Amino acid sequence: MQTKYVFLTGGVVSSVGKGVTAAALGRLLKSHGFKVAIQKLDPYINVDPGTMSPYQHGEVFVLDDGAETDLDLGHYERFADIRLNKVCNVTTGQVYAEVISRERHGDYLGGTIQTIPHVTNEIKRRIQQVAQTTGAEIVLCEVGGTVGDIESEPFLETLRQLRSNLGRENTFYIHVTWLVYLAATKELKTKPTQHSVRQLRSVGISPDMIIARSDHEVTHDLCEKIAAFCDVDINAVVPMETADSLYDVPIKLEEAKVGEYIIQHFGLESRQSAGMEGWHWLSKQIHKEKPKVKIALVGKYIELQDAYISVREALEHACLHLGVELDLSWVHSADLERSRGWGLVQSAHGIVVPGGFGQRGIEGKIAASRYAREHKVPYLGLCLGMQTMCIEFARHINDTEDANSTEFDPNTAHPVISLMPDQQHITDKGGTMRLGLYPCELQEGSISRRAYGVERIDERHRHRFEFNNAYRKPFEENGMRFAGMSPDGRLVEVIELVDHPFMVASQFHPEFLSRPTRPHPLFREFIRTACEINQICCGNLEVPPDFD
Ligand code: GLN
Repeated sequence: MQTKYVFLTGGVVSSVGKGVTAAALGRLLKSHGFKVAIQKLDPYINVDPGTMSPYQHGEVFVLDDGAETDLDLGHYERFADIRLNKVCNVTTGQVYAEVISRERHGDYLGGTIQTIPHVTNEIKRRIQQVAQTTGAEIVLCEVGGTVGDIESEPFLETLRQLRSNLGRENTFYIHVTWLVYLAATKELKTKPTQHSVRQLRSVGISPDMIIARSDHEVTHDLCEKIAAFCDVDINAVVPMETADSLYDVPIKLEEAKVGEYIIQHFGLESRQSAGMEGWHWLSKQIHKEKPKVKIALVGKYIELQDAYISVREALEHACLHLGVELDLSWVHSADLERSRGWGLVQSAHGIVVPGGFGQRGIEGKIAASRYAREHKVPYLGLCLGMQTMCIEFARHINDTEDANSTEFDPNTAHPVISLMPDQQHITDKGGTMRLGLYPCELQEGSISRRAYGVERIDERHRHRFEFNNAYRKPFEENGMRFAGMSPDGRLVEVIELVDHPFMVASQFHPEFLSRPTRPHPLFREFIRTACEINQICCGNLEVPPDFD
């Protein structure tokens, strides 16, 4: 089958949920029985977001192949329940780096390198690589930012060309816009949307569908107005009011018959193989009254909650699965250092210490790990959260008071966490960590082994530092279980406290593989234990229909 392309652009303002829309649409098209993949084109000049501050960019989402990508890829994978690869996130930086390296190599010898055709051809090649590497029949491709941004012009020009190259029946353009609300007159205005469509037209793209986002009710009259002014079929103007939960979005799109419309445009027949049962189950679950479980997330970038989006979603998945409501408090680890925010930690049924980099706020995280150990509060440590658990244990149980990670104190007398040997001579920051999927073997009888139900797992990583094996003995003697190791036995992947209901931490990031109807085993067992200890009624649920 000729690959079909759905292109999504954004209008009026950014951050209106274009990524979630693309993800939800991917889910919907998959439920019609098509193999889908989703790609994000990011107009910024960084090669990838791996070097950006979490405050600038939010979470860096890591794929199986180790690509450090935009957090929207997390939405794509979670919603459509797919595994993507590095070609699914393209940046201007990657495109130019490739074109310039080819120029230096002499590939264009004699030619003048220009945006059109050299840059646009490279973008095109990368868009087409998605189907080649994933086998997708329908590729959804989202352009980051908003139409009118200088940086996105080469991307839009490429999308324009692709319709001429591939034909109308193989391409579909969706413009996701924001309807502006005027409080004084209590009305929604379509004018900015009209202007944004005009701007899109000026680069040669006429949208086939408009998804009109708003926090207010979008009436049929308003949709008719948008259809008339923007020259789009009324059945292709989709009102999309802000949903209570992200996971309601696929159902709203389904109700608006968006999938059918696109499939018809492509001249395809729905195969209806997978259906949306999983999502209907999920949506019912979300809107039920449920007992609350209080979780404290002790982070260092909590001013921007998007920095922990996969962690939050993974907690949410586990809670939905167990029939409890996630009551999440965001605790700034630097506050804990100044004796603030402890009330939230003390009242929590469970504590999560997620990933992070650099010294700031580390002592607060270590203090949170100590609190969880001493008070036997369920604890889940993710990457850095495993490292702080080790430092804390070394300081207060092994009696090596000045223990630390060499990341935070290069001269520490007890480097219980230290740089991995293969990291020692690396000077470049970008794309040089231990990244992506690596195997781990779980010890018989451990909490993690029971949670996963299998001996061998593969999880996604993003770190430079590791547990220092020179300290294995005192840790083991004092009650730390090295529950997960790399198959060669060299690298510590999962640790557990023996004398504790659930103090488990991993060097990898389990949050990246959690799915809404298939929560990650570590998150599920963490929440289950938190509920059990606190007699919060959970479990006894009908098993959710699987996604596939
Ligand atoms: N900074 C730590 C390391 O590089 C932890 C990384 C993380 O939490 N992702 O090993």
